[in-house]
Amino acid sequence: YKINMNELMLLEELGKGQYGVVQKVHHVPTNVTMAMKEIRLELDQTKLNQILMELDVLHKSTSPFIVEFYGAFFIDCVYYCMEYMDAGSLDKLYGDGVPESVLAKMALAMVKGLKFLKDELSIIHRDVKPTNVLVNTKGDVKLCDFGVSGQLEQSLAKTNIGCQSYMAPERITTAEASTYTVQSDIWSLGLSLVELALGRYPYGGGKFDSVFAQLSAIVSGEPPELPADKFSQDCRDFVAKCLNKVPTERPTYGQLLDTPWLQKYETEKVDMAGWVQDALDAKNQRILLQQQMEQAQLAEQH
Ligand code: ATP
Ligand code: MG
Repeated sequence: YKINMNELMLLEELGKGQYGVVQKVHHVPTNVTMAMKEIRLELDQTKLNQILMELDVLHKSTSPFIVEFYGAFFIDCVYYCMEYMDAGSLDKLYGDGVPESVLAKMALAMVKGLKFLKDELSIIHRDVKPTNVLVNTKGDVKLCDFGVSGQLEQSLAKTNIGCQSYMAPERITTAEASTYTVQSDIWSLGLSLVELALGRYPYGGGKFDSVFAQLSAIVSGEPPELPADKFSQDCRDFVAKCLNKVPTERPTYGQLLDTPWLQKYETEKVDMAGWVQDALDAKNQRILLQQQMEQAQLAEQH
């Protein structure tokens, strides 16, 4: 089934990325609410057709840890329709940091999602970070924005400069794209987990004044760690294994699933839906406070 722009009712904006906005839309024929991502890129017809073709593999199989793909089409730029996740991305939800039990369930979902991409679709994610981990109010945790299309990745790569880097040290020191392996995703996974646990991006913290300083710290500094007073030894060992600066020494997804930390939480019951609801309430509270502060500032000016 091909999705068509005419069949979509545009609802509110969900967020903005480097390449365009993500909008909540309603697909009228199927009565499904979706998230539509706009990817603004200058592309010729051949490249566009190749991208749409490459995205087709996503119809092949699905996983509970991957945001479902509904279809893509093209008018001036690429539009990508996917499952709408009603609690949004983790970067806006983690607040002052998530407790270990919730972190473990997130890690389980991320590892299983990444393993599915690799084993079933032969895909390396390439952009693991908290904005690309989405949650819903049922408590599901799913990955999005993985590198399905070689052509799309190539076109995006030319303009890609983020201010917070989740790149593994080996990706910073070697220029060739070919050095990107599954091990680099495992570094990004570890770094994302530390960010979720601490409630902030682990490098810098205001001390660094340039992207260069941040990249130097990733390459030359000690990898970030979790504090011993808040996280168990098994948990701290898990992230330390992911954040090994030598890529070949990082564990595989299978080995990560076998770690004592994930083994323990695999069977443990954690109220993820409850955590998501509390995190959403706290997020709305922050937005409200922000608006009140802005209004107060405006009033002061008048
Ligand atoms: P970057 O462009 O650097 O990758 P990003 O991941 O934040 O950053 P986008 O992928 O364009 O940028 O997404 C923008 C925002 O839209 C996300 O941060 C997220 O909050 C929201 N979003 C994306 N996809 C969905 C979805 N399927 N359901 C709900 N919200 C989404
Ligand atoms: Mg994204």
